[in-house]
Amino acid sequence: MKPVNYTRSRRCALPCLAVVMPCFNEEAVLPRTLASVTEFFSDCVRDGVIAPDSFVLCVDDGSRDDTWGLIEKASRTDPQVRGMKLSRNMGHQTALVAGLSTVTNFDVVVSIDADLQDDLFAIRDMIAAWQNGYDIVYGVRSERKTDTLFKRETAQMFYRLMLFMGVNLIPNHADFRLMDRRACDALLEYEERNLFLRGLVPLIGFPSTSVYYSRLERTAGESKYPLSRMVSLAVEGVTSLSVTPLRIIAFTGILISSIAILAICYALVGKETGHTVPGWTSVTIAIFFMGGVQMLSLGIIGEYIGKIYLETKRRPRYHIENATWENQ
Ligand code: UDP
Ligand code: MG
Repeated sequence: MKPVNYTRSRRCALPCLAVVMPCFNEEAVLPRTLASVTEFFSDCVRDGVIAPDSFVLCVDDGSRDDTWGLIEKASRTDPQVRGMKLSRNMGHQTALVAGLSTVTNFDVVVSIDADLQDDLFAIRDMIAAWQNGYDIVYGVRSERKTDTLFKRETAQMFYRLMLFMGVNLIPNHADFRLMDRRACDALLEYEERNLFLRGLVPLIGFPSTSVYYSRLERTAGESKYPLSRMVSLAVEGVTSLSVTPLRIIAFTGILISSIAILAICYALVGKETGHTVPGWTSVTIAIFFMGGVQMLSLGIIGEYIGKIYLETKRRPRYHIENATWENQ
């Protein structure tokens, strides 16, 4: 690992802020978002919170609408707006890592969604926390009023499940967070392809804290996280960070085997004493139950094997097709 000198860039009075924003089919909301971000930059520069060369890097995650056209247009008129385009849709987590790997010359980097549901003003509190010595500052939702009851409940279930699986997550924190250079560099040393950043960042272990904010409604466009994608993200989260499901399978196996031994003894005693009855129902239930348990167990084991398969290939995580700074 190369030694890095952080002393120059750390805790300077006017940090250069990089905002990394993954965008997938966000043409409906992007103009408004970029206007808000640049206005936020001017206010912060005026108030002496960030350096004037702060910038936003929009990562176009293979959008099929005019998202890239809008990013290019904005970057031509505003030097604070930069953009890069991935060759195809790689998913939010990978787009975020692509952005974090590409930004240079910054002191702190904040990742934020393109729909600005996360409150830009919380970034001021994040920078203040960074000035107080924290390397990582998590943006945590103080309430979930804008969510549907279903989303709220499933989110709670997800956090409980992750805790049970031994994965350390910050409840109600998604991917709105500040990291300084050394935290960002540390995160990029995790080279896995199966990415679940909100589970990886707490593993870094540098001093961290949280700031609280109310999450707003999406102002335009649609959520890119329908139920199916949320379920895959949850599966990704569990299987990329925990082997507890495999242990549960082993434990279930031991439990069922023990019950089977008792059942065999019972059946033998029954046969000897002549109490056997035609037991169609119990046999059928046992077959279905065991079949179900075995298929589920194989599925879970398969999920891990699939992950090992993908990791061993060591394929590149993404390809950059275009970048605004290359065209200038
Ligand atoms: N996103 C992405 N690639 C994807 C899906 C989503 O870059 O394949 C981006 C999207 O443009 C947004 C962020 O990830 O900036 C979060 O998505 P969204 O706001 O739709 O999720 P939600 O807030 O509904 O959970
Ligand atoms: Mg959103």
